[in-house]
Amino acid sequence: MLWNLGTRIKGALPNRLKEDALPELPEVETVLRGLSPTLVGQTINTVTVRQPALRFPVPIELPTLLAGRTIIDLQRRGKYLIIFLDSGSVICHLGMSGSLQLVPNSTPASRHDHIDITIGNTLLRYRDPRRFGLMLWTEEDPMTHPLLAALGLEPLAPQFTGHALHRLTAASKSPIKTLLMDSHKIVGVGNIYASESLFQARIHPTTPARDLTPARCCRLVEAVQSTLSAAIAAGGSSLRDFVHSNGKLGYFQQQYFVYGRAGAACRVCGTAIERLVMAQRATYFCPRCQRRRG
Ligand SMILES: [Zn+2]
Repeated sequence: MLWNLGTRIKGALPNRLKEDALPELPEVETVLRGLSPTLVGQTINTVTVRQPALRFPVPIELPTLLAGRTIIDLQRRGKYLIIFLDSGSVICHLGMSGSLQLVPNSTPASRHDHIDITIGNTLLRYRDPRRFGLMLWTEEDPMTHPLLAALGLEPLAPQFTGHALHRLTAASKSPIKTLLMDSHKIVGVGNIYASESLFQARIHPTTPARDLTPARCCRLVEAVQSTLSAAIAAGGSSLRDFVHSNGKLGYFQQQYFVYGRAGAACRVCGTAIERLVMAQRATYFCPRCQRRRG
């Protein structure tokens, strides 16, 4: 099986404190839920690629491949969106600044609007100022694509249980926060929701993963799922704006317990929230609620 990803155009971020990738899983899930009712069952008329230099080059033949195809389903795997067509699929990732919007097809394109997919009177418009996203074509099962095949457990799937997490943690020397954010183990839990989930489960972020008991793994699974679900619910309430307006993609307005709150009082115990850097990521925790233990 041949997968031509072309030359990697955009390199990794410089080796300093990494920015928090935007969007995270809840935002991608909300994009999916917002787009699906409009797109599924529709036929693509034309495709315009203004800027092919994304994280991987947009295939030069994409417009020819997509014209006339019908969209049969949209799915998410980690933070990848997959558009299933009557033949072949498009794999899309929003990178750090990408968005997919539905706009009337007379809407003028601005500088960062790189791809337009025309469907009747509507454009599905891909905008990405920083161009860390991607849009690729495959005729194979997209779940076996090299970008997707090695992805870990879906945190909202029934397979993500305390037992499954304990199996991962028991074999790991990493701190639990680093493991939570390792997409080969668990997909789509980014820096914000990792910090928030660990707070909710009362687990210190530097705890060695293999020290976690099965009971604490169960608590952490519940915390990850409720944190992500709450964010998706918050996104759902703003869905109309999210998809149809000027569409600047941002985190949903939520009140975080620890993320971004260094020095502020813990909402549970009043202790000052602390910040440390782990694996080049800013990490926030309450030293009292999240005491180190197994
Ligand atoms: Zn606290």
